[in-house]
Amino acid sequence: EVTAEPTVVVRAHDLPYLDERLPVDERVADLLSRMTLKEKAGQMTQAERGNVAGSPAVITELGLGSILSGGGSTPADNTPEGWADAIDGFQERALVTRLQIPLLYGVDSVHGHGNLAGATILPHNIGLGATRDPLLVARAERMVATETRATGIPWTFAPCLCVVRDDRWGRTYESFGEHPALASVLGAAAVLGFQGSRLDSSRSVLATAKHFVADGDTAYGTGEGEYTVDQGITEQSRRHVESVDLPPYAAAIVAGVGSVMPSYSSMDWTDDGLGNPVKMHAHDELINGWLKRDHGFDGFVISDYQGIHQIPPLAADSPTTQQIVTSVNAGVDMFMEPSQFERFHTRLVAAVQDGAVTPERIDDAVSRILAAKFELGLFEEPFADRSHADDIGSAAHREIARTAVAESQVLLKNSRRALPLDDDDSIYVAGRNADDLGNQAGGWTGTWQGFSGEVTEGTTILEGIEAAADDVTFSEDASAPTDGADVGVVVIGETPYAEGFGDVGGPEWAWDPADGGVPREEKSMSLQPRDAEIVEKVCAEIKTCVVLIVSGRPQVITEQLGSIDALVASWLPGTEGDGVADVLFGDRRFTGKLPLSWPRSADDPVTNVGDKNYDPLFPFGWGLSTGGQKSTLDHHRLDLQEAVLDPTHGVPPQAAQAIAKSDVALLEGKKAQALRLLKEASED
Ligand code: BGC
Repeated sequence: EVTAEPTVVVRAHDLPYLDERLPVDERVADLLSRMTLKEKAGQMTQAERGNVAGSPAVITELGLGSILSGGGSTPADNTPEGWADAIDGFQERALVTRLQIPLLYGVDSVHGHGNLAGATILPHNIGLGATRDPLLVARAERMVATETRATGIPWTFAPCLCVVRDDRWGRTYESFGEHPALASVLGAAAVLGFQGSRLDSSRSVLATAKHFVADGDTAYGTGEGEYTVDQGITEQSRRHVESVDLPPYAAAIVAGVGSVMPSYSSMDWTDDGLGNPVKMHAHDELINGWLKRDHGFDGFVISDYQGIHQIPPLAADSPTTQQIVTSVNAGVDMFMEPSQFERFHTRLVAAVQDGAVTPERIDDAVSRILAAKFELGLFEEPFADRSHADDIGSAAHREIARTAVAESQVLLKNSRRALPLDDDDSIYVAGRNADDLGNQAGGWTGTWQGFSGEVTEGTTILEGIEAAADDVTFSEDASAPTDGADVGVVVIGETPYAEGFGDVGGPEWAWDPADGGVPREEKSMSLQPRDAEIVEKVCAEIKTCVVLIVSGRPQVITEQLGSIDALVASWLPGTEGDGVADVLFGDRRFTGKLPLSWPRSADDPVTNVGDKNYDPLFPFGWGLSTGGQKSTLDHHRLDLQEAVLDPTHGVPPQAAQAIAKSDVALLEGKKAQALRLLKEASED
């Protein structure tokens, strides 16, 4: 038995698995051979910080393998030191267990370390999708990895590899776009950026490809019954899922992704025996089959937050033994059981003792988890390496994010050469998203659903405009007189949400009508009346009118389009509003391209993306440049594949080449070539 002062890691027993010179598989095998069933089940268990903080002894008692801070659990002390001190404290509890196995701590750094004070926050993925720039994405996620690991956290639940096929889905903003090649190339780039060339670097974190699979391809972007919101049923054929939704996972595996998270959604190819479509957390064919056996994924599968509680039959005392057995046997290795972790642990141990789960399956799951811990270097350095703490929110990091913001801006319309603006212009700025950091950052910032206002440190779009021009008037509701202004800039769009419908102007979390929410048909994509009024007023009164839409998905602006001179999709740019001003004033060219089709109305058959008859207001790939590009829609009605591969559509040639090469290489299975290209961007 090892006893130790909590802050001292004792390696007195000198066992082979602690020898860092041995290969990882030997270390895993040695450690595994020494573990009891209870210890193995502990490694498969993940609890939430808030539920162990008050009684951290449970970490030692259960031999917990992992702790997470879900989006909603921002700690009271969210400074870099506060995070690192707390996690080190949990780690001490794990290191006084018999075998001294370190904890693996995870957070949702989905567009930056969102719950960390002073973090650099990137555009959400939908904006990164508009950049079509895998090298930029790799560099940006390297920055996020650095800020995350500097606080003692070696694991992020990102990137989301969803290919969004129905923009009504409440998590559309987490997608790189509607095209599988975009999600594949940028997803692989993100994985490489997070993980770097070595996981034990103080700048690397383990990535999670989520939510496996087809979360962005559910009917209506939502579901029925107990769990509606954003967790629906994929009604697509096997062939469709194989060609649209699965390719990004193949790319992420090529890039070496360390973990995969199943989706809350279900697949209706087969029945679960009770008449329900099969929940992804129970999908043996796709997890054991496609992912692990057919594609050789050798990392581990982490369930989503209480994801297994949704496996039918539903029960009050979830996770039930049946739910646990079904998902362990389908190939899930670690279980995000934020509050029911003790129950999960007890029932898993009993299920193995009863023969419902084989010891071999447990050994496989635990081996995968331990391998990640060895590769991350946690046995050698379990505590926070704070050497990069000064990089958090640094000028260099903000510059990367600012570039990403500028590259993500999509110029949808530019008549009478309204843009770029002149810094001598007198500019009248209006709209609720002009000067609101929370609104421009969206969900997963400050807290889970995000919130309007001073959510963190950064520059608003208004502040960016004010830094670029001298004569700027701001009137959020456009009540101040517009007299004499040369240009009106109206910044409208959504308010923050993370999961759910995120209906603008409605409750932060909008449910089905049955639950008192807004009708699905009206949710979220229609322009809010207040936004429409401000656009109409400013565009009527000021000769040149520019509208920026800050949102995680298209907003229907068909009616107002005629009165608008320049229209920009700004997405959810994050903390660096300066990047928006950079393109508005021509310091950088507009190069962003639509990562998804922009519908004419909220009733558009957006589920028919890719269908020849689908006639959106602006097609996938659309995006003008301020460099004098042709501007008829027909000219840009691109073949989807061509849109990604063709280097002539305004994407900087080097980046286009990288996209094309890595895409082709991935498609042809030339793994080494694809990896080399993207790795260049993610070296330390
Ligand atoms: C989300 C995941 C997330 C997890 C942990 C869930 O509600 O679906 O994307 O990683 O919470 O915060």
